[in-house]
Amino acid sequence: MKNKDEAVVVFSGGQDSTTCLLWALKKYKKVYAVSFDYGQRHVLELDCAKKIAEKFGVEHHILDMTLLNQLAPNSLTRNDITVDEDAPKSGTPNSFVDGRNMLFLSFVAVFAKQRGVTDIITGVSQSDYSGYPDCRDVFIKSLNTTLNLAMDYEFDIITPMMWIDKMETWKMADELGGLDIIREMTLTCYNGIKGEGCGHCPACKLRKKGYDLYMAGKGEK
Ligand code: ZN
Repeated sequence: MKNKDEAVVVFSGGQDSTTCLLWALKKYKKVYAVSFDYGQRHVLELDCAKKIAEKFGVEHHILDMTLLNQLAPNSLTRNDITVDEDAPKSGTPNSFVDGRNMLFLSFVAVFAKQRGVTDIITGVSQSDYSGYPDCRDVFIKSLNTTLNLAMDYEFDIITPMMWIDKMETWKMADELGGLDIIREMTLTCYNGIKGEGCGHCPACKLRKKGYDLYMAGKGEK
């Protein structure tokens, strides 16, 4: 019988994965949060993840994935590569890390199976398409099939944010009672500034635009 009381959340400590965590906490009896140390420039990201997990009493695991940085150095891991402010005309943005979501989800799947858990939750979204191929629904479905075949197990990769944009993500957090937690405790900024962030990197712009739209819709400012 499938264990539908427990789930594993791929947890970076950012807005989307924290909203996923809040969502999962309402839906499951036990939630595991798994973060990855991939040599990201901003170790603060892992610190945010740790603090949020602690706040909710969630069992939190940080797995070593520094191998990723060894294989594919990029602007999120290296200080000498600056993050592109705008999307490139073609190809993937330089903040894209080759293989990241595939590796993260594969390792989380092994982690989940060891605990008899089938449900894996990730905050990827195709709506605010950032040019990351591994955030697309088609990729998630394909990997889900592959993981099931690889481990002869019925994983369910669940993507609550797949078809919603940043404004709706704020709305979801608010409905889950976590608006302030997302505002204050998460780190989304490519320049490693917690909460409101630097204000000018692509992640901050997207986050703020969504927030302003949501607040405008609520009749607040
Ligand atoms: Zn920023």
